[in-house]
Amino acid sequence: MGIAKDYMMEPESIDVGFECPTPQCDEIVEASVEPAYYDTSAENESDMAGYSSTRITCLGCKREYIVEGHNYGAGMTYSVVNYPSIEVDVY
Ligand SMILES: [Zn+2]
Repeated sequence: MGIAKDYMMEPESIDVGFECPTPQCDEIVEASVEPAYYDTSAENESDMAGYSSTRITCLGCKREYIVEGHNYGAGMTYSVVNYPSIEVDVY
């Protein structure tokens, strides 16, 4: 399936997990998401911020979530689109 991108020393994915927000679904959704790298080689500071977006399906309720990654230079943070109260753990 395609050619894997060569990220050299950087990891190709980050493992995250969060509690599924669906009522009656106790699943912990765990997935590998794309890292959001801070790009210090960008010309503008606004272009340096890292961003990634990964679609994840809960194994319990089959609902789909989108996990967004952000990096403003102080490390990557992840959140679930449309569910701002969910805390996403980075493993
Ligand atoms: Zn679920």
